[in-house]
Amino acid sequence: MKYEAVIGLEVHIQLLTETKIFCGCSTRFGDAPNTNVCPVCLGMPGVLPVLNKKVVDFAIKLALATNCSIAPVSQFARKNYFYPDLPKNYQISQYEKPIAEHGWLEIDTQNGPKKIGIRRIHMEEDAGKLIHDESKPVSYVDFNRTGVPLLEIVSEPDIRTPEEAAQYLKTLRDIVVYLEICDGNMEEGSFRCDANISLRPMGSTELGVKTELKNMNSFKNVQKALEFEIRRQSALLDRGEKVVQETRLWDAARGVTVGMRTKEEEQDYRYFPDPDLVPVVVDKEWIDEVKNTVPELPRDKKLRFMDQYGLPEYDAEILVSDRHLADYFEETIVRFNRPKTVSNWILTELLRELNQRECSITQCPVSPERLAELLQLIDDETISAKIGKSVFEEMFSTGKSARTIVEEKGLKQVTDTDLLEKVVSEVLEQHPKEVEKYLGGAEKVIGFFVGQVMRKTQGKANPKLVNELLRKKLEEKRSK
Ligand code: ADP
Ligand code: ZN
Ligand code: MG
Repeated sequence: MKYEAVIGLEVHIQLLTETKIFCGCSTRFGDAPNTNVCPVCLGMPGVLPVLNKKVVDFAIKLALATNCSIAPVSQFARKNYFYPDLPKNYQISQYEKPIAEHGWLEIDTQNGPKKIGIRRIHMEEDAGKLIHDESKPVSYVDFNRTGVPLLEIVSEPDIRTPEEAAQYLKTLRDIVVYLEICDGNMEEGSFRCDANISLRPMGSTELGVKTELKNMNSFKNVQKALEFEIRRQSALLDRGEKVVQETRLWDAARGVTVGMRTKEEEQDYRYFPDPDLVPVVVDKEWIDEVKNTVPELPRDKKLRFMDQYGLPEYDAEILVSDRHLADYFEETIVRFNRPKTVSNWILTELLRELNQRECSITQCPVSPERLAELLQLIDDETISAKIGKSVFEEMFSTGKSARTIVEEKGLKQVTDTDLLEKVVSEVLEQHPKEVEKYLGGAEKVIGFFVGQVMRKTQGKANPKLVNELLRKKLEEKRSK
């Protein structure tokens, strides 16, 4: 590689507040067009915006989770431009004085953990949505989204590869979902990313001319768009040409970026402090109050799960992917302290049942207490692991406890030696050929015998005991 890529990401997240940032209209998604609107979010003359406190709470929460300094005083500004989905012809955003700055978050890369700087986080309002009817020369505008609160998170240009970019986005998304400030849905546009990228000769410390990529609606697409752009810019530089500073759109179907417009300069927006909104003053008390609502973050939790419970990274990653799943795991551990066994059950049996029923962990019909009880029954050999799995399925569909199901169905493992000995003798008598094979050295046949005994006992025989008894009887035959 002759060039090094330099990447900085701008992420917009839609906040999960009930109402908009400067009025009381609902933020609900999917309602009939233009039903969640009022004079304020429609930008009528003479109206005054009033800041939604929840938006500031959420901004502080994210600032704390990303190690930012929170500004004691921040200010809203008007960003002026004309667009049909922006009824005021300006967007209320923050410019010179954002709510938070100078943070970082740590991501996992192939070469170990890496810190990515966060330049700033600011609050702003979303614009409306244009709907283009392709069949007619008509466009519609839906103002339900105007005034929905956003946070913009701008990274430092610390990212060096498309993989790191995807990892940064994943880490940030996990955080905002854990904080319960955004649903993190990239396809539906509640978590959007613009990617800035430039190249420079390996070893250089100067920044090259960048392009800004838009229109990627998945981590994969961000990665692919950046990979394409690295190839495109390298080819230009190789030919001695210059990269033009511009905004480019990712065309997922063709797998290319296409020039859209040369990027506006900041002065084009005529930013100025919004005279309708007083500065936002955040004191220590407010920050402390929000601090209490910040949970353990996903990456910290993952590392703790690996360390404290000795889990492999793979397990830990899946368990912490959902805060409630992680809680479920820990609540089960309290009652059945075999972390790896519990993790195996959750990753395979539990998640499979949940997926099949399209049910989330918070609606899981089997509580951690009940899962622990089941695992205990298997552990003390009341039932076999195999029967345990079918009991688990039944717990899911009936809501009954493991103990109840085992009793009702008579599933207790047979550990009665006398009884099992009888069955074992029967099986050996019925299969003289296999007995001969065993005695001739084909010891694998033992598996066949175990299977036969299980069949005769409807799977209830204790497998360890059956094995012992089979070997004992077969060895007796050998010595005869
Ligand atoms: P703009 O004024 O074009 O919006 P900013 O300086 O505000 O640019 O930075 C926007 C984003 O682009 C940030 O995430 C920043 O880290 C990144 N960035 C800035 N300069 C470069 C560059 N030369 N190469 C790659 N990324 C850059
Ligand atoms: Zn409104
Ligand atoms: Mg900028």
